[in-house]
Amino acid sequence: MKLVIAANWKMHKTGREAKEFCLELLQKEDDYKGVEVLICPPFTALSAAAAELKDSSVKLGAQNLYPGAQGAFTGEISAAMLKEAGVKYVIIGHSERRHLMGEDDSLVARKIEAAYENGLNPILCIGEKEEEREKGITEKVLKKQLAAALEKLEPGQVKSLVIAYEPVWAIGTGKAASADDAASAADFIYSYLDKHFGKDAAAGVRIQYGGSVKAENIGSFVTLEHVHGALVGGASLEAGSFSELVRAARKAVEG
Ligand code: PEP
Repeated sequence: MKLVIAANWKMHKTGREAKEFCLELLQKEDDYKGVEVLICPPFTALSAAAAELKDSSVKLGAQNLYPGAQGAFTGEISAAMLKEAGVKYVIIGHSERRHLMGEDDSLVARKIEAAYENGLNPILCIGEKEEEREKGITEKVLKKQLAAALEKLEPGQVKSLVIAYEPVWAIGTGKAASADDAASAADFIYSYLDKHFGKDAAAGVRIQYGGSVKAENIGSFVTLEHVHGALVGGASLEAGSFSELVRAARKAVEG
């Protein structure tokens, strides 16, 4: 299964900076063969990144969408707008949106549906907070987030999902989960998908690990049975270090 490694730039980079990053990243494009590499810039840098990535194997992602088709939703961006901008993937339910912007499970579910309706591939983010982990309820939290987000989906749609397991306490903290913790969460997600949508759908889903991933530790995650990629924040902001991270992932799986 092809690894999917996504750069989540969050609120970083102008259009000019995005262009410079893409030009540098593409200098080593041959090194990314066999890996699906995605760049998810802020909305205002999408068109600059799209122009640079147009003839390359690196794909464009967005960090969010709003589920309405159009209308009085000041400040929001629809799935159709993203599609026209050249976006292929969209991050949905990132912990910063859930916990800083107050997005709930039902809004996340509507966003997933809007993505599918418009031909975008969702990257569904789920993960437990530190206090939930300490209480021993990680699986309960993951189950609730999965159940709500996937409730209206058919197995055929689930099959093409990317699910990012991102423990909230590991995001931007420099404190990545251990490979054992990531493995048990990914195994749990896989079993949930198998139970509710069948083997075929579960086997198609690519589960990413996210949370303080860098070139030095990515190998310990992408070699896990049910982990097929990473969602990367901080270490995706420099083209050189992100490129090195993709190479490290490829080397870890290809040997
Ligand atoms: C993220 O943005 O989803 C993320 C995992 O950030 P970081 O890699 O900086 O922890």
